Amino acid sequence: MYCKITPEFIENLEKIVGKVHVISDKTAMEDFSHDETAPGVAVTHLPDVVIKPSSSEEIAKILRLANEKSIPVTPRGAGTGLAGGAVPIYGGIVINLERLDKIIEIDEDNLMITVEGGAPLMKIYEALDKTDLFLPPHPGEESAQVGAAVATNAGGVRTVKYGVMRTFVKGAEVVLPTGEILQLGGKLLKNNTGYNLLELLIGSEGTLCLFTKIILRLLPKPKEIMILLLEYKDAKSAIATVPKLLKTGEIPLGLEYIERESITPSEKMLGETWPAKGEAFLMVVVVGNDQDELYSICEKIMEIGEENGALNVLLADKKKEQDIIMKIRSNIYEGLRPDMLEIFDIVVPPSMIAVFVEKVREVSSRNQVKLLVYGHAGDGNVHVHLMREGIEKDWKQKLEQVKKELFEVGKNMGGKITAEHGIGVVKAGDIFYSLSEKEIELMKSIKKVFDPKNILNPGKVLPD
Ligand SMILES: Cc1cc2nc3c(=O)[nH]c(=O)nc-3n(C[C@H](O)[C@H](O)[C@H](O)COP(=O)(O)OP(=O)(O)OC[C@H]3O[C@@H](n4cnc5c(N)ncnc54)[C@H](O)[C@@H]3O)c2cc1C
Repeated sequence: MYCKITPEFIENLEKIVGKVHVISDKTAMEDFSHDETAPGVAVTHLPDVVIKPSSSEEIAKILRLANEKSIPVTPRGAGTGLAGGAVPIYGGIVINLERLDKIIEIDEDNLMITVEGGAPLMKIYEALDKTDLFLPPHPGEESAQVGAAVATNAGGVRTVKYGVMRTFVKGAEVVLPTGEILQLGGKLLKNNTGYNLLELLIGSEGTLCLFTKIILRLLPKPKEIMILLLEYKDAKSAIATVPKLLKTGEIPLGLEYIERESITPSEKMLGETWPAKGEAFLMVVVVGNDQDELYSICEKIMEIGEENGALNVLLADKKKEQDIIMKIRSNIYEGLRPDMLEIFDIVVPPSMIAVFVEKVREVSSRNQVKLLVYGHAGDGNVHVHLMREGIEKDWKQKLEQVKKELFEVGKNMGGKITAEHGIGVVKAGDIFYSLSEKEIELMKSIKKVFDPKNILNPGKVLPD
Protein backbone atom coordinates (compact mmCIF):
# COMPACT_ATOMS: atom_id res chain seq x y z
CA MET A 1 0.00 0.00 0.00
CA TYR A 2 2.91 2.38 0.77
CA CYS A 3 6.07 2.75 -1.30
CA LYS A 4 9.54 1.89 -0.07
CA ILE A 5 12.01 4.66 0.69
CA THR A 6 14.88 4.68 -1.79
CA PRO A 7 18.38 6.24 -1.48
CA GLU A 8 17.22 8.89 -4.03
CA PHE A 9 14.28 9.77 -1.79
CA ILE A 10 16.62 10.24 1.19
CA GLU A 11 18.85 12.46 -0.94
CA ASN A 12 15.80 14.61 -1.73
CA LEU A 13 15.03 14.90 1.98
CA GLU A 14 18.65 15.92 2.62
CA LYS A 15 18.27 18.67 0.04
CA ILE A 16 15.32 20.06 2.01
CA VAL A 17 16.80 20.11 5.55
CA GLY A 18 20.53 19.48 5.10
CA LYS A 19 22.32 16.12 5.49
CA VAL A 20 23.01 16.48 9.24
CA HIS A 21 19.29 16.67 9.98
CA VAL A 22 18.42 13.37 8.31
CA ILE A 23 19.02 10.11 10.24
CA SER A 24 18.80 6.71 8.57
CA ASP A 25 21.17 4.69 10.75
CA LYS A 26 19.18 1.94 12.55
CA THR A 27 20.90 2.35 15.94
CA ALA A 28 20.47 6.12 15.87
CA MET A 29 16.77 5.69 14.98
CA GLU A 30 16.09 3.29 17.91
CA ASP A 31 14.85 6.17 20.16
CA PHE A 32 12.18 6.99 17.56
CA SER A 33 10.72 3.46 17.48
CA HIS A 34 8.76 3.66 20.74
CA ASP A 35 7.15 6.00 23.26
CA GLU A 36 6.26 5.74 26.97
CA THR A 37 3.21 3.48 26.54
CA ALA A 38 2.82 0.87 29.30
CA PRO A 39 4.83 -2.33 28.64
CA GLY A 40 1.86 -4.73 28.22
CA VAL A 41 0.45 -2.82 25.23
CA ALA A 42 3.49 -0.89 23.90
CA VAL A 43 4.18 -1.13 20.18
CA THR A 44 7.57 -0.60 18.58
CA HIS A 45 8.56 -0.09 14.96
CA LEU A 46 11.65 1.49 13.42
CA PRO A 47 11.18 4.34 10.95
CA ASP A 48 13.03 4.20 7.64
CA VAL A 49 14.24 7.73 8.12
CA VAL A 50 14.03 10.47 10.79
CA ILE A 51 14.06 14.07 9.65
CA LYS A 52 14.46 17.21 11.74
CA PRO A 53 13.18 20.26 9.85
CA SER A 54 13.53 23.83 11.11
CA SER A 55 10.50 25.52 9.51
CA SER A 56 6.91 25.02 8.35
CA GLU A 57 8.07 25.49 4.76
CA GLU A 58 10.51 22.58 5.06
CA ILE A 59 7.76 20.41 6.59
CA ALA A 60 5.42 21.36 3.73
CA LYS A 61 8.06 20.28 1.18
CA ILE A 62 8.59 16.94 2.99
CA LEU A 63 4.83 16.27 3.02
CA ARG A 64 4.46 17.11 -0.67
CA LEU A 65 7.26 14.69 -1.48
CA ALA A 66 5.79 11.98 0.79
CA ASN A 67 2.39 12.44 -0.87
CA GLU A 68 3.84 12.17 -4.34
CA LYS A 69 5.62 8.90 -3.45
CA SER A 70 2.98 7.51 -1.01
CA ILE A 71 5.29 7.33 2.00
CA PRO A 72 3.82 7.31 5.55
CA VAL A 73 4.81 10.21 7.82
CA THR A 74 4.64 10.19 11.63
CA PRO A 75 4.86 13.47 13.56
CA ARG A 76 6.90 13.15 16.73
CA GLY A 77 7.46 15.38 19.73
CA ALA A 78 9.35 14.16 22.80
CA GLY A 79 7.94 10.62 22.62
CA THR A 80 6.31 10.75 26.08
CA GLY A 81 2.91 9.71 24.71
CA LEU A 82 1.06 6.84 26.38
CA ALA A 83 -0.86 5.48 23.37
CA GLY A 84 1.83 4.72 20.76
CA GLY A 85 0.76 7.78 18.72
CA ALA A 86 4.31 8.74 17.73
CA VAL A 87 5.39 5.21 16.79
CA PRO A 88 5.83 4.78 13.00
CA ILE A 89 3.94 1.50 12.76
CA TYR A 90 4.25 1.42 8.95
CA GLY A 91 7.85 2.69 8.92
CA GLY A 92 8.44 5.60 6.54
CA ILE A 93 9.37 9.10 7.72
CA VAL A 94 9.36 10.38 11.29
CA ILE A 95 9.26 14.18 11.44
CA ASN A 96 10.76 15.28 14.74
CA LEU A 97 10.01 18.90 15.62
CA GLU A 98 12.79 19.48 18.17
CA ARG A 99 14.43 22.21 16.03
CA LEU A 100 11.21 24.25 15.99
CA ASP A 101 11.57 25.17 19.65
CA LYS A 102 11.42 28.99 19.76
CA ILE A 103 9.39 31.13 22.11
CA ILE A 104 8.38 33.67 19.47
CA GLU A 105 6.63 36.26 21.61
CA ILE A 106 5.13 36.87 25.03
CA ASP A 107 2.41 39.45 24.49
CA GLU A 108 1.67 40.80 27.97
CA ASP A 109 -0.97 43.24 26.67
CA ASN A 110 -3.10 40.51 25.09
CA LEU A 111 -2.11 37.83 27.63
CA MET A 112 -0.93 35.51 24.85
CA ILE A 113 2.25 33.58 24.07
CA THR A 114 3.29 32.50 20.56
CA VAL A 115 5.56 29.47 20.36
CA GLU A 116 6.91 27.05 17.79
CA GLY A 117 5.37 23.58 17.82
CA GLY A 118 8.48 21.78 19.04
CA ALA A 119 9.06 23.98 22.11
CA PRO A 120 9.18 21.81 25.24
CA LEU A 121 6.52 22.76 27.82
CA MET A 122 9.31 23.23 30.38
CA LYS A 123 10.86 25.97 28.21
CA ILE A 124 7.50 27.78 28.05
CA TYR A 125 6.96 27.56 31.83
CA GLU A 126 10.51 28.88 32.42
CA ALA A 127 10.03 31.78 29.99
CA LEU A 128 6.80 32.71 31.77
CA ASP A 129 8.49 32.52 35.21
CA LYS A 130 9.96 35.94 34.39
CA THR A 131 6.49 37.45 33.97
CA ASP A 132 3.31 37.78 36.05
CA LEU A 133 1.53 35.40 33.66
CA PHE A 134 1.23 31.62 33.47
CA LEU A 135 -0.01 28.88 31.16
CA PRO A 136 -2.54 26.89 33.22
CA PRO A 137 -2.44 23.41 31.56
CA HIS A 138 0.27 21.26 33.14
CA PRO A 139 0.52 17.67 31.87
CA GLY A 140 2.68 15.43 34.06
CA GLU A 141 5.68 15.32 31.72
CA GLU A 142 7.28 18.75 31.16
CA SER A 143 9.63 17.50 28.44
CA ALA A 144 6.56 17.03 26.18
CA GLN A 145 6.46 19.42 23.22
CA VAL A 146 3.70 22.01 22.99
CA GLY A 147 2.63 20.96 19.47
CA ALA A 148 2.17 17.41 20.72
CA ALA A 149 0.36 18.63 23.84
CA VAL A 150 -2.08 20.43 21.50
CA ALA A 151 -2.25 17.42 19.14
CA THR A 152 -3.17 15.21 22.12
CA ASN A 153 -5.26 17.90 23.87
CA ALA A 154 -3.28 17.13 27.01
CA GLY A 155 -4.75 17.54 30.49
CA GLY A 156 -2.95 17.15 33.81
CA VAL A 157 -3.33 18.07 37.46
CA ARG A 158 -4.68 21.59 36.90
CA THR A 159 -7.55 20.62 34.59
CA VAL A 160 -10.19 20.63 37.32
CA LYS A 161 -9.85 24.42 37.70
CA TYR A 162 -8.73 25.61 34.29
CA GLY A 163 -9.59 22.99 31.68
CA VAL A 164 -7.46 21.11 29.15
CA MET A 165 -5.03 22.41 26.52
CA ARG A 166 -7.88 23.11 24.07
CA THR A 167 -9.23 25.84 26.39
CA PHE A 168 -6.05 27.88 25.90
CA VAL A 169 -5.27 27.43 22.18
CA LYS A 170 -6.40 30.55 20.34
CA GLY A 171 -4.47 30.28 17.09
CA ALA A 172 -2.13 27.98 15.21
CA GLU A 173 -0.08 27.54 12.09
CA VAL A 174 -0.49 24.02 10.74
CA VAL A 175 0.88 22.04 7.82
CA LEU A 176 -1.65 19.77 6.15
CA PRO A 177 -0.76 16.26 4.92
CA THR A 178 -0.98 17.57 1.35
CA GLY A 179 1.65 20.23 2.09
CA GLU A 180 -0.42 23.42 2.41
CA ILE A 181 0.28 25.78 5.32
CA LEU A 182 -2.75 27.26 7.13
CA GLN A 183 -3.02 30.08 9.67
CA LEU A 184 -5.98 29.43 11.97
CA GLY A 185 -7.55 31.67 14.61
CA GLY A 186 -5.33 34.36 16.14
CA LYS A 187 -4.95 36.47 19.27
CA LEU A 188 -8.71 36.48 19.55
CA LEU A 189 -10.98 35.70 22.49
CA LYS A 190 -14.02 35.38 20.26
CA ASN A 191 -14.25 34.12 16.70
CA ASN A 192 -17.38 32.76 15.05
CA THR A 193 -16.12 32.88 11.49
CA GLY A 194 -17.23 29.68 9.82
CA TYR A 195 -16.57 26.10 10.89
CA ASN A 196 -13.95 25.99 13.63
CA LEU A 197 -11.16 24.02 11.95
CA LEU A 198 -8.76 24.83 14.77
CA GLU A 199 -10.99 23.05 17.29
CA LEU A 200 -11.23 20.06 14.95
CA LEU A 201 -7.45 19.78 14.64
CA ILE A 202 -6.77 20.08 18.40
CA GLY A 203 -6.68 16.52 19.74
CA SER A 204 -6.34 14.95 16.26
CA GLU A 205 -3.17 13.14 17.43
CA GLY A 206 -1.03 13.94 14.41
CA THR A 207 -3.48 12.39 11.92
CA LEU A 208 -4.80 15.58 10.28
CA CYS A 209 -1.95 18.12 10.49
CA LEU A 210 1.33 19.11 12.08
CA PHE A 211 1.21 22.02 14.52
CA THR A 212 4.19 24.26 13.77
CA LYS A 213 3.20 27.46 15.60
CA ILE A 214 0.71 27.99 18.42
CA ILE A 215 -0.86 31.01 20.10
CA LEU A 216 -1.86 30.24 23.69
CA ARG A 217 -3.89 32.31 26.10
CA LEU A 218 -2.26 33.09 29.45
CA LEU A 219 -3.70 34.04 32.83
CA PRO A 220 -2.35 36.25 35.63
CA LYS A 221 -0.23 34.12 37.94
CA PRO A 222 -1.76 33.47 41.38
CA LYS A 223 0.62 34.66 44.12
CA GLU A 224 0.00 31.99 46.74
CA ILE A 225 -0.27 28.21 46.59
CA MET A 226 -1.08 25.71 49.33
CA ILE A 227 -1.35 21.92 49.28
CA LEU A 228 -3.47 19.83 51.62
CA LEU A 229 -3.05 16.09 52.05
CA LEU A 230 -6.21 14.54 53.47
CA GLU A 231 -5.38 11.13 54.95
CA TYR A 232 -7.90 8.30 54.93
CA LYS A 233 -7.87 4.68 56.08
CA ASP A 234 -9.26 3.47 52.74
CA ALA A 235 -10.15 4.49 49.20
CA LYS A 236 -13.89 4.51 49.70
CA SER A 237 -14.15 7.42 52.14
CA ALA A 238 -11.39 9.37 50.36
CA ILE A 239 -13.07 9.19 46.96
CA ALA A 240 -16.52 9.85 48.42
CA THR A 241 -15.23 13.25 49.62
CA VAL A 242 -14.36 14.40 46.07
CA PRO A 243 -17.82 15.58 44.89
CA LYS A 244 -18.31 17.35 48.26
CA LEU A 245 -15.07 19.29 47.83
CA LEU A 246 -16.14 20.36 44.34
CA LYS A 247 -19.22 21.96 45.86
CA THR A 248 -17.38 24.26 48.30
CA GLY A 249 -17.63 27.17 45.87
CA GLU A 250 -13.85 27.29 45.40
CA ILE A 251 -12.65 24.94 42.64
CA PRO A 252 -9.17 23.77 43.63
CA LEU A 253 -6.22 23.96 41.21
CA GLY A 254 -5.81 20.20 41.62
CA LEU A 255 -7.87 17.48 43.27
CA GLU A 256 -6.02 14.20 43.09
CA TYR A 257 -6.65 10.78 44.60
CA ILE A 258 -3.52 8.85 45.59
CA GLU A 259 -3.06 5.40 47.18
CA ARG A 260 -0.17 4.54 49.50
CA GLU A 261 0.84 1.53 47.40
CA SER A 262 1.13 3.60 44.24
CA ILE A 263 3.55 6.15 45.75
CA THR A 264 6.00 3.71 47.35
CA PRO A 265 8.00 3.00 44.11
CA SER A 266 8.19 6.75 43.39
CA GLU A 267 9.46 7.45 46.95
CA LYS A 268 12.12 4.73 46.59
CA MET A 269 13.19 5.92 43.14
CA LEU A 270 13.60 9.52 44.33
CA GLY A 271 14.87 8.81 47.87
CA GLU A 272 12.11 11.09 49.21
CA THR A 273 9.40 10.48 51.83
CA TRP A 274 5.70 11.26 51.40
CA PRO A 275 4.95 13.48 54.39
CA ALA A 276 1.56 11.95 55.30
CA LYS A 277 0.51 8.68 56.94
CA GLY A 278 -2.60 6.67 56.03
CA GLU A 279 -3.44 4.35 53.15
CA ALA A 280 -5.34 6.68 50.83
CA PHE A 281 -5.06 10.42 50.24
CA LEU A 282 -6.71 13.34 48.57
CA MET A 283 -4.20 15.93 47.44
CA VAL A 284 -5.95 19.29 47.20
CA VAL A 285 -4.02 22.20 45.68
CA VAL A 286 -5.46 25.68 46.15
CA VAL A 287 -4.24 28.99 44.72
CA GLY A 288 -5.08 32.65 45.24
CA ASN A 289 -3.59 36.07 45.80
CA ASP A 290 -4.44 36.62 49.44
CA GLN A 291 -2.80 34.40 52.06
CA ASP A 292 -5.51 34.89 54.71
CA GLU A 293 -8.22 34.06 52.21
CA LEU A 294 -6.32 30.93 51.20
CA TYR A 295 -5.96 29.80 54.83
CA SER A 296 -9.72 30.17 55.31
CA ILE A 297 -10.33 28.05 52.14
CA CYS A 298 -7.93 25.45 53.57
CA GLU A 299 -9.90 25.43 56.85
CA LYS A 300 -13.11 24.81 54.96
CA ILE A 301 -11.48 21.91 53.05
CA MET A 302 -10.17 20.47 56.34
CA GLU A 303 -13.67 20.63 57.84
CA ILE A 304 -15.21 18.83 54.84
CA GLY A 305 -12.44 16.23 55.00
CA GLU A 306 -12.93 15.60 58.71
CA GLU A 307 -16.74 15.39 58.33
CA ASN A 308 -16.15 12.74 55.66
CA GLY A 309 -13.76 10.41 57.43
CA ALA A 310 -10.32 12.03 57.00
CA LEU A 311 -8.12 10.81 59.85
CA ASN A 312 -5.73 13.71 59.59
CA VAL A 313 -5.02 16.68 57.32
CA LEU A 314 -1.54 17.91 56.49
CA LEU A 315 -1.20 21.48 55.27
CA ALA A 316 1.90 22.12 53.17
CA ASP A 317 2.28 25.90 52.96
CA LYS A 318 6.08 25.95 52.51
CA LYS A 319 7.65 25.58 49.07
CA LYS A 320 10.12 22.87 50.15
CA GLU A 321 7.38 20.52 51.39
CA GLN A 322 5.18 21.31 48.39
CA ASP A 323 8.05 20.48 46.01
CA ILE A 324 8.56 17.03 47.63
CA ILE A 325 4.84 16.23 47.38
CA MET A 326 4.65 17.33 43.72
CA LYS A 327 7.88 15.49 42.83
CA ILE A 328 6.64 12.20 44.32
CA ARG A 329 3.22 12.68 42.66
CA SER A 330 4.81 13.43 39.25
CA ASN A 331 6.95 10.30 39.35
CA ILE A 332 4.24 7.77 40.26
CA TYR A 333 3.94 6.57 36.64
CA GLU A 334 7.71 6.18 36.24
CA GLY A 335 7.87 4.26 39.53
CA LEU A 336 5.06 1.86 38.64
CA ARG A 337 5.90 1.41 34.95
CA PRO A 338 8.37 -1.53 35.18
CA ASP A 339 5.75 -3.74 36.91
CA MET A 340 2.75 -2.42 35.00
CA LEU A 341 0.89 -3.89 32.04
CA GLU A 342 -1.45 -1.03 31.16
CA ILE A 343 -2.63 2.36 32.42
CA PHE A 344 -6.36 2.90 31.82
CA ASP A 345 -7.45 6.51 31.43
CA ILE A 346 -11.24 6.18 31.55
CA VAL A 347 -13.26 9.32 32.36
CA VAL A 348 -16.69 9.41 34.05
CA PRO A 349 -18.83 12.33 35.25
CA PRO A 350 -17.09 13.71 38.39
CA SER A 351 -20.07 12.88 40.63
CA MET A 352 -19.71 9.18 39.64
CA ILE A 353 -16.08 8.84 40.64
CA ALA A 354 -16.74 7.00 43.95
CA VAL A 355 -19.01 4.46 42.22
CA PHE A 356 -16.42 4.05 39.46
CA VAL A 357 -13.62 3.27 41.93
CA GLU A 358 -15.92 0.82 43.73
CA LYS A 359 -16.57 -0.96 40.40
CA VAL A 360 -12.82 -1.02 39.69
CA ARG A 361 -12.39 -2.91 43.01
CA GLU A 362 -15.03 -5.42 41.88
CA VAL A 363 -13.23 -5.94 38.52
CA SER A 364 -10.00 -6.44 40.45
CA SER A 365 -11.35 -9.11 42.81
CA ARG A 366 -13.44 -10.87 40.13
CA ASN A 367 -10.37 -11.29 37.91
CA GLN A 368 -7.87 -11.66 40.75
CA VAL A 369 -5.62 -8.92 39.43
CA LYS A 370 -3.96 -5.96 41.12
CA LEU A 371 -5.42 -2.63 39.95
CA LEU A 372 -3.75 0.43 41.47
CA VAL A 373 -5.70 3.66 41.24
CA TYR A 374 -4.55 7.27 41.39
CA GLY A 375 -5.04 10.49 39.52
CA HIS A 376 -7.29 13.34 38.57
CA ALA A 377 -10.29 12.48 40.77
CA GLY A 378 -11.70 16.02 40.50
CA ASP A 379 -11.99 15.56 36.70
CA GLY A 380 -13.69 12.16 37.01
CA ASN A 381 -10.48 10.73 35.58
CA VAL A 382 -8.53 8.41 37.87
CA HIS A 383 -5.86 6.31 36.18
CA VAL A 384 -6.24 2.58 36.77
CA HIS A 385 -3.01 0.57 36.54
CA LEU A 386 -3.09 -3.12 35.80
CA MET A 387 -0.04 -4.59 37.52
CA ARG A 388 1.82 -7.72 36.44
CA GLU A 389 1.93 -9.21 39.95
CA GLY A 390 0.33 -12.65 40.20
CA ILE A 391 -0.66 -13.01 36.52
CA GLU A 392 2.67 -13.69 34.79
CA LYS A 393 1.44 -16.72 32.81
CA ASP A 394 -1.95 -15.64 31.47
CA TRP A 395 -1.43 -11.88 31.48
CA LYS A 396 -2.58 -11.32 27.89
CA GLN A 397 -6.02 -12.87 28.45
CA LYS A 398 -6.36 -11.09 31.80
CA LEU A 399 -5.43 -7.77 30.21
CA GLU A 400 -8.09 -8.17 27.50
CA GLN A 401 -10.75 -9.24 30.00
CA VAL A 402 -9.98 -6.44 32.49
CA LYS A 403 -9.94 -3.86 29.68
CA LYS A 404 -13.32 -5.04 28.42
CA GLU A 405 -14.88 -4.93 31.89
CA LEU A 406 -13.44 -1.50 32.77
CA PHE A 407 -14.49 0.03 29.44
CA GLU A 408 -18.02 -1.33 29.96
CA VAL A 409 -18.11 0.08 33.51
CA GLY A 410 -17.09 3.52 32.20
CA LYS A 411 -19.55 3.36 29.29
CA ASN A 412 -22.46 2.46 31.57
CA MET A 413 -21.74 5.60 33.60
CA GLY A 414 -21.73 7.88 30.54
CA GLY A 415 -17.94 7.87 30.41
CA LYS A 416 -15.35 7.54 27.62
CA ILE A 417 -12.32 5.26 27.24
CA THR A 418 -9.73 8.04 27.32
CA ALA A 419 -9.66 11.44 29.00
CA GLU A 420 -6.19 12.62 28.15
CA HIS A 421 -3.76 9.97 26.83
CA GLY A 422 -5.66 9.64 23.56
CA ILE A 423 -6.44 6.75 21.24
CA GLY A 424 -3.13 6.48 19.36
CA VAL A 425 -2.61 2.96 18.08
CA VAL A 426 -3.23 1.08 21.33
CA LYS A 427 -6.92 2.01 21.60
CA ALA A 428 -7.77 2.40 17.90
CA GLY A 429 -9.59 -0.94 17.98
CA ASP A 430 -11.59 0.10 21.04
CA ILE A 431 -13.18 3.39 19.96
CA PHE A 432 -16.52 1.65 19.37
CA TYR A 433 -16.92 1.62 23.18
CA SER A 434 -17.16 5.42 23.07
CA LEU A 435 -18.26 6.42 19.56
CA SER A 436 -21.24 5.45 17.43
CA GLU A 437 -20.88 3.98 13.94
CA LYS A 438 -22.01 7.29 12.45
CA GLU A 439 -19.40 9.22 14.41
CA ILE A 440 -16.66 6.86 13.23
CA GLU A 441 -17.92 7.12 9.63
CA LEU A 442 -17.85 10.94 9.81
CA MET A 443 -14.35 10.88 11.29
CA LYS A 444 -13.16 8.61 8.48
CA SER A 445 -14.65 11.01 5.91
CA ILE A 446 -12.90 13.98 7.55
CA LYS A 447 -9.60 12.09 7.49
CA LYS A 448 -10.07 11.48 3.75
CA VAL A 449 -10.67 15.18 3.04
CA PHE A 450 -7.51 16.23 4.89
CA ASP A 451 -5.34 13.29 3.90
CA PRO A 452 -6.61 11.61 0.69
CA LYS A 453 -3.64 9.24 0.47
CA ASN A 454 -3.70 8.39 4.20
CA ILE A 455 -0.01 9.19 4.64
CA LEU A 456 -0.16 11.15 7.92
CA ASN A 457 0.12 8.93 10.98
CA PRO A 458 -1.82 6.00 9.47
CA GLY A 459 -3.24 3.39 11.83
CA LYS A 460 -3.80 5.93 14.63
CA VAL A 461 -7.13 7.02 16.15
CA LEU A 462 -9.27 5.28 13.52
CA PRO A 463 -9.25 1.51 13.13
CA ASP A 464 -7.66 0.43 9.79
C1 LIG B 1 5.24 10.49 33.30
C2 LIG B 1 4.19 10.93 32.34
C3 LIG B 1 3.16 11.74 32.78
C4 LIG B 1 2.17 12.17 31.88
N1 LIG B 1 1.18 12.97 32.35
C5 LIG B 1 0.22 13.39 31.51
C6 LIG B 1 -0.83 14.21 31.99
O1 LIG B 1 -0.90 14.55 33.16
N2 LIG B 1 -1.78 14.60 31.11
C7 LIG B 1 -1.73 14.25 29.78
O2 LIG B 1 -2.62 14.63 29.03
N3 LIG B 1 -0.74 13.47 29.31
C8 LIG B 1 0.23 13.04 30.13
N4 LIG B 1 1.23 12.24 29.66
C9 LIG B 1 1.25 11.87 28.22
C10 LIG B 1 2.14 12.76 27.33
O3 LIG B 1 3.12 13.42 28.07
C11 LIG B 1 1.28 13.76 26.56
O4 LIG B 1 0.43 13.06 25.68
C12 LIG B 1 2.11 14.77 25.73
O5 LIG B 1 1.25 15.72 25.16
C13 LIG B 1 2.91 14.10 24.61
O6 LIG B 1 3.91 14.99 24.19
P1 LIG B 1 5.19 14.47 23.38
O7 LIG B 1 5.96 15.66 22.92
O8 LIG B 1 5.96 13.50 24.17
O9 LIG B 1 4.46 13.77 22.15
P2 LIG B 1 4.72 12.41 21.37
O10 LIG B 1 4.60 11.24 22.27
O11 LIG B 1 5.98 12.53 20.60
O12 LIG B 1 3.48 12.44 20.36
C14 LIG B 1 2.17 12.34 20.84
C15 LIG B 1 1.19 12.43 19.66
O13 LIG B 1 1.19 13.74 19.10
C16 LIG B 1 1.55 13.70 17.71
N5 LIG B 1 2.38 14.88 17.49
C17 LIG B 1 3.58 15.17 18.06
N6 LIG B 1 3.98 16.42 17.70
C18 LIG B 1 3.02 16.91 16.88
C19 LIG B 1 2.84 18.15 16.20
N7 LIG B 1 3.72 19.16 16.30
N8 LIG B 1 1.73 18.31 15.42
C20 LIG B 1 0.82 17.32 15.30
N9 LIG B 1 0.93 16.13 15.93
C21 LIG B 1 2.00 15.94 16.73
C22 LIG B 1 2.25 12.37 17.52
O14 LIG B 1 2.13 11.90 16.19
C23 LIG B 1 1.51 11.50 18.51
O15 LIG B 1 0.30 11.04 17.95
C24 LIG B 1 2.23 11.78 30.52
C25 LIG B 1 3.29 10.97 30.08
C26 LIG B 1 4.25 10.54 30.97
C27 LIG B 1 5.37 9.67 30.47
